[in-house]
Amino acid sequence: MSERLTVDCSNDPENLAWQSDALCAQTGPEIQFPESRASDKVAKAVCARCMVRLPCLEYALLNGEKFGVWGGLNEKEREQLLEQRQAQANE
Ligand code: SF4
Repeated sequence: MSERLTVDCSNDPENLAWQSDALCAQTGPEIQFPESRASDKVAKAVCARCMVRLPCLEYALLNGEKFGVWGGLNEKEREQLLEQRQAQANE
């Protein structure tokens, strides 16, 4: 994923407005926090239709979210994205 936001997605309440458009708020948290990675397909499908996928992903990366699917990526995928970004920053 090469898309990247330039907005501040920190915990500042003024920067959390995107959460009011979170599609998963309508589907329930159990979908975004599946018990196994094998069952994260449904969560990813919800994220794919969500209009705030990018700010959600950046928020999860910035805040080190360790569990669940955020912005369409599971824990392992977010970890890999952070490693990619770090490697690019070090080039
Ligand atoms: S991208 Fe996914 S986890 Fe993030 S707010 Fe949207 S539906 Fe929820």
